[in-house]
Amino acid sequence: MSHKIMAINAGSSSLKFQLLAMPQGEMICQGLIERIGMANARVTMKTSAQKWQETAPIADHREAVTLLLDKLLSHHIINTLQDIDGVGHRVAHGGEFFKDSARVTDETLAQIERLAELAPLHNPVNVLGIHIFRQLLPSTPSVAVFDTAFHQTLDESAYIYPLPWRYYAELGIRRYGFHGTSHKYVSTALAERLGIQLSALRVICCHLGNGSSICAIKGGQSVNTSMGFTPQSGVMMGTRSGDIDPSILPWIAEREGKTPQQLNYLLNNESGLLGISGVSHDYRDVEQAADGGNRRAALALTLFAERIRATIGSYIMQMGGLDALIFTGGIGENSARARAAVCHNLHFLGLSIDEEKNLRNATFIQAENAVVKVAVINTNEELMIAQDVMRIALSDKVTFDVSA
Ligand code: AMP
Repeated sequence: MSHKIMAINAGSSSLKFQLLAMPQGEMICQGLIERIGMANARVTMKTSAQKWQETAPIADHREAVTLLLDKLLSHHIINTLQDIDGVGHRVAHGGEFFKDSARVTDETLAQIERLAELAPLHNPVNVLGIHIFRQLLPSTPSVAVFDTAFHQTLDESAYIYPLPWRYYAELGIRRYGFHGTSHKYVSTALAERLGIQLSALRVICCHLGNGSSICAIKGGQSVNTSMGFTPQSGVMMGTRSGDIDPSILPWIAEREGKTPQQLNYLLNNESGLLGISGVSHDYRDVEQAADGGNRRAALALTLFAERIRATIGSYIMQMGGLDALIFTGGIGENSARARAAVCHNLHFLGLSIDEEKNLRNATFIQAENAVVKVAVINTNEELMIAQDVMRIALSDKVTFDVSA
């Protein structure tokens, strides 16, 4: 029996959704509502057969969700709201409390609200999305899927920062890590494609997109990851600096009289590929500029790769070796150049890629004699969310054919 599961990713002014048929994992309808709160909000929806786009005033998230459900009904994608069997919500921060996805209850919601302190930009709007769906679909079970949960297996030695202890003990400042849903999905998909148990593998996953993070996965568990207390740390990203000497911040604050908010903006919105190249935050634009002879754009690409290589190197040390390297995210899935730059000159590790396979984005791109597998795997966070809704909220409804 097939279930219709809705995966929701609510942002401050956007709502991304996908309705999936489970357990097959087929997309029924997906889309994005952007510029919520504005007169020219944009709704984009598609099924395998059709695509719609329209501009309309959408005052708030409640109107956006109502509009989404109305569209699903009017386009006969669902016949009644009860056709939706479960809803999964992406939630940015689960703190130390959520080590797995959780069924939404009043207690779960209160706990997510308490964690808003750690993710003030994201958790409140995630909670709002959950509230609205609970009100509009009161009898439909829902599950919260946390970006941080997969990394709750990190050892203290990987998550504690060398600051005075009370900042961890009293304020919860530690490495949490993000992109957990993606890292878990692609590492599981890798093991399936290799036909080897994930528990037997040492994997490094490079999720490279506008936000980028690297994750070391040993025996199926996250043992280290480059994002930390916030999604700002680690490797360099589209507009985020990633790791820098921490004392640069008070130095700039004093010199230029910047407030904490202004420093945050500088680190999150003006740095990374954009900051160095001065051209764009978008990897393709920076590639184009570098090919046109722009020296800073070329430097931005080099730095991007070098910081990933440094992180991979340290994770190989921590895991005592490497069986497979995965590339995912917009850059990881599509840029042969980025993958080649990251894998350059690593023959000594038994890691080298086949140029032709790399250029055509093949699933496995390692050279024939290489020891380490190198995989390109498209991430699918919506599918992972829908699988968690099935596992956590609907497992009692899944019927298995035991007659065979
Ligand atoms: P994401 O945040 O995962 O959607 O990834 C966005 C990033 O992927 C942007 O920097 C894009 O420039 C990059 N990207 C998407 N397609 C390509 C491509 N064909 N070649 C290089 N970079 C790409």
